[in-house]
Amino acid sequence: MLDRTVTDWQSQAQQLKIEGRAFINGRYVEALSGQTWPTSNPGDGRELADVAVCGIEDADLAVKGARAAFESGDWSRMAPMDRKMVLVRWAELIEKHADELALLETLDVGKPISDTTHVDVPATVRTIRWSGEAIDKVYDEIPPTPAGTLALIQRLPLGVVAAIVPWNFPLSTTAWKLAPSLATGNSVILKPASNTPLSALFIAGLASEAGLPDGVLQVLPGPGGSLGKHLALHMDIDGLTFTGSTPVGKMLMEYSGQSNLKRTFLELGGKSPNIVFADANLEKAAAMAAAAVFYNGGQTCTAGTRLIVEEKIQDSFLELVTENAKGWMPGNPLDPATAMGPMIDAGQCKTVADYVDIGRGEGAEIIFGGSQVMQDSGGYYHEPSIFSGVNNAMRIAQEEIFGPVMSVLSFKTAEEAIQIANDSIYGLAGAVWSNNINTAHKVAEAVRVGTMGINNYFGGDITVPFGGFKQSGNGRDKSIHAFHDYTELKTTWIELM
Ligand code: NAD
Repeated sequence: MLDRTVTDWQSQAQQLKIEGRAFINGRYVEALSGQTWPTSNPGDGRELADVAVCGIEDADLAVKGARAAFESGDWSRMAPMDRKMVLVRWAELIEKHADELALLETLDVGKPISDTTHVDVPATVRTIRWSGEAIDKVYDEIPPTPAGTLALIQRLPLGVVAAIVPWNFPLSTTAWKLAPSLATGNSVILKPASNTPLSALFIAGLASEAGLPDGVLQVLPGPGGSLGKHLALHMDIDGLTFTGSTPVGKMLMEYSGQSNLKRTFLELGGKSPNIVFADANLEKAAAMAAAAVFYNGGQTCTAGTRLIVEEKIQDSFLELVTENAKGWMPGNPLDPATAMGPMIDAGQCKTVADYVDIGRGEGAEIIFGGSQVMQDSGGYYHEPSIFSGVNNAMRIAQEEIFGPVMSVLSFKTAEEAIQIANDSIYGLAGAVWSNNINTAHKVAEAVRVGTMGINNYFGGDITVPFGGFKQSGNGRDKSIHAFHDYTELKTTWIELM
């Protein structure tokens, strides 16, 4: 796999069989309306496949099937160690099809093939395997009640869960939702983002092959505003787990309140601070400062888009960062040497270009990049771009751009760095770089985010929870803590006669 060339991947892409139908009750099916829409490759703008456009009738059918599967107990009451075996088999099947799946994700999302082969697919396998392997090692509780009584505190599955996910990490966010919700015994209806449904559809068939009973996992491609909203308002869905933007997350909370108060867990946007002190390992900090923003074209919820640098090293540090930015010039996603691919679509590419104009208008200075490139490819490419002279009140410091745009700010004291970092509606992630353990810990503790790196960015694995403070959300993906979002606590109190 490592020595594949762009030509190898291109010829494999020609042979790829793409499934665009919905997955309901254990089978791939057309939408009841027969409607389809095309999904296209952001790398060249070409159409990839026709995908079913599911509507309200498909959703109702899927909910009915999911409810029946839940009530049957075939999965919900299956012994956890048996559920484990199904999930582990599913992970193995995904691993077996790793190349095909990585290619599909690259074509559908524009992610570089080196990322999908080394990050997205392996992380998906790990997440499903880990959650499966964990579920028969989690114990319920017996509390310290008075003599003559016994109480049980059990975690029971919610029932039918809807999972709605975004386009920027379609496979990994899907795995982060499906693995713990299925492991805990729920039936799940997944709505992938309307423009990136292919990998979720692909792995649904593998789940069946691994032994997941029909109806336990339904995958409905379709639009958020109608299909997604219908699921969120559905009276027979017990839980809603969402990854996406903060404005849509707020709507979902309202839909929950307007319907049946379904448990609603949200993983939302970010504008993450990356704080660099003069005493840090500046070579490493500069390399990671660039990666923190430009990885996945900045289309990453945790992107370290606010680089907050100690003033006395700002100029020299920015030279290092700019040097690193050169390694992130966009290229063909099927080329294993490409570090950064295209934006997801023309609209997102324009949004990035608009923010570059906004930043200039606000008085910040572009010191690297700033333009759309590779227009003759048919794809949607934008240079890695760096703004200096930013203050935290500017829109480019406050709003999630979701593109490869870094805003550089400076500070004189640790207190000022913390104040700037926390001056945001978001609280998803961040990092601090310093060789002084006291400074690093004090800053890490004071920054109000769900995940903080010290001398690293994007640190973490499946063993640790992931989620946001403030308007970055309320749920937690990954780790044993994710099981909590998909279960209700039940108390049984027993009087011993
Ligand atoms: P989005 O909110 O536009 O869409 C996310 C999903 O919600 C899609 O499936 C979409 O079809 C659906 N949707 C849209 N409107 C809906 C509605 N009214 N009712 C129900 N569903 C609806 O987000 P996006 O543009 O796909 O993704 C980018 C956003 O996701 C960014 O804000 C990013 O930060 C966030 N994100 C967060 C995390 C995290 O874990 N915190 C991870 C990845 C992405």
